[in-house]
Amino acid sequence: MQIEKTVAGVKAQVKAWKKEGLSIGLVPTMGYLHEGHKSLIDRAVAENDRVVVSIFVNPIQFGPTEDLESYPRDLNADSLLCEKAGAALIFAPEPSEMYGEDFTTFVDMSGVTGELCGKSRPIHFRGVCTVVNKLFNIAMPDRAYFGQKDAQQLAVIRRMVRNLNMNLEIVGCPIIREADGLAKSSRNTYLSAEERQAALVLSRAIKTGQAMVQAGEKDGEKVLAAMRQLISEEPLARIDYVEMVKWDTIEIHHRVDCPVLVAIAVFIGKTRLIDNFIQEQTI
Ligand code: AMP
Repeated sequence: MQIEKTVAGVKAQVKAWKKEGLSIGLVPTMGYLHEGHKSLIDRAVAENDRVVVSIFVNPIQFGPTEDLESYPRDLNADSLLCEKAGAALIFAPEPSEMYGEDFTTFVDMSGVTGELCGKSRPIHFRGVCTVVNKLFNIAMPDRAYFGQKDAQQLAVIRRMVRNLNMNLEIVGCPIIREADGLAKSSRNTYLSAEERQAALVLSRAIKTGQAMVQAGEKDGEKVLAAMRQLISEEPLARIDYVEMVKWDTIEIHHRVDCPVLVAIAVFIGKTRLIDNFIQEQTI
């Protein structure tokens, strides 16, 4: 497995693979890889001849008060995981390689980015769309893999690819959880033992909401109220949002009469965690 720090290095390798007629899968990540990332890499390895994993903590998607500096990093452990999983290349650039001094071009989007994380983190999706665009141009993948863990991000990327007529397929992958239900996340490492226990309130709220919807509850307000109530009983938890939106457009929608995404963001101490479920079919 190759580790490349430069755009030119990745482009040269990708060009050589394309010349041989090989298909390319891309898994964009911020590193500190866990089983959630691995599930994306496994799927990419199964569906493509060569897999590129990008590892880049993208500064332009972090707000000024967010955790850019403290975000966990471990390229050695990440390399082992990628190699074991069968990735062919890691692209791990420095910020200066991605954003030269003359960098002034951004990919912006309205609509899908207006609610949920887009509301709490105003510059976030502009940063995500811009970096993902750059990664697509650098790795030229046939397919790119994203987790449902970041459901709004998945909807945003699908919209961007459609709107800008990009020539690749976006593959969404299910949420991977710890045995006790907590969605795997690089940010879970911020949690103290007590916070780790308190963080279970997110998956409990998701389970509760999903059970209500699957039992036929159509009233979104009732589902959200039950979830908010459960979270409010956990002293270490502070709700950022608990919302129901249309899955394709991410517009607020409190009726389970079309595919809906129920998404939550909750601070456990200083750590902001997210979780969600999608109800595709009306019951
Ligand atoms: P990140 O490194 O957090 O930016 O995540 C990189 C990719 O991995 C994104 O597409 C995430 O949605 C996905 N991902 C992160 N955690 C999980 C998880 N627990 N299950 C499935 N996918 C995940």
